[in-house]
Amino acid sequence: MFMQKAVEIKSAEELAAMRRAGSVTADILAHLKGIVAPGMTTGDIDKVAREELKKRGAKPAFLNYHGFPAVICLSINEEVVHGIPSPKRVLKDGDVLGLDFGCVIDRFYGDSAVTVGVGAISPEAARLLRVTRESLEKGIAAVKNGARIGDVGAAVQAHAEAAGYGVVREFVGHGIGRALHEEPPIPNYGKPGAGPRLKTGMTIAIEPMVTLGSYEVETLADGWTAVTKDRKLSAHFEHTVAVTEDGAEILTLPSAA
Ligand code: MG
Ligand code: MG
Repeated sequence: MFMQKAVEIKSAEELAAMRRAGSVTADILAHLKGIVAPGMTTGDIDKVAREELKKRGAKPAFLNYHGFPAVICLSINEEVVHGIPSPKRVLKDGDVLGLDFGCVIDRFYGDSAVTVGVGAISPEAARLLRVTRESLEKGIAAVKNGARIGDVGAAVQAHAEAAGYGVVREFVGHGIGRALHEEPPIPNYGKPGAGPRLKTGMTIAIEPMVTLGSYEVETLADGWTAVTKDRKLSAHFEHTVAVTEDGAEILTLPSAA
């Protein structure tokens, strides 16, 4: 049996702060997505992310988190999550790049991820990206007051596995608010009707990591980068959402330009 740990319910004021943090997170992520091109390094993208944070008066969510050395996680191809940006990692035409980014505004966190193609990618890679994004959408669609955490995981898992893909078990989504990672864990797998109930005012990050082959992962010698054990492609999409009476409000949507 697990102890039920405290899950925070956000007040209207706290949700307003979460909306601001989410929207800045999304705006910066959208900007970074737009500059991805063959020949760039992942270090270049981290540098731009730092500039964008400064420009918007936001603090990085990931820098120094358990010692992480950058403001964004950039994971290429078989790298699942937590790739460390480097001036030595050059993006090539046909790569897929996961950008996982978060920021802090008024003490509240936003957290979001997308995976994009670098130049022209194979139909196989494009399908993996599409299905992973759809799996996130299915998970979000399962969110509402009273739904179970297992309903969310089951929705993500069913969609990814129906396409023949693996769903990573070792990393999961999470509650989010005044900390990047709060209770409860939000797995990308599960059984409908199982697990704790979601309640209006909870804020959670849902983040499927989906693999072309086996879902098994391992961590590289840098202590951070998680890769698929079989070195096949992986994709990652994430939104921070608030639980509402009859659904979910996505907090990490770009502001209307
Ligand atoms: Mg993230
Ligand atoms: Mg997250």
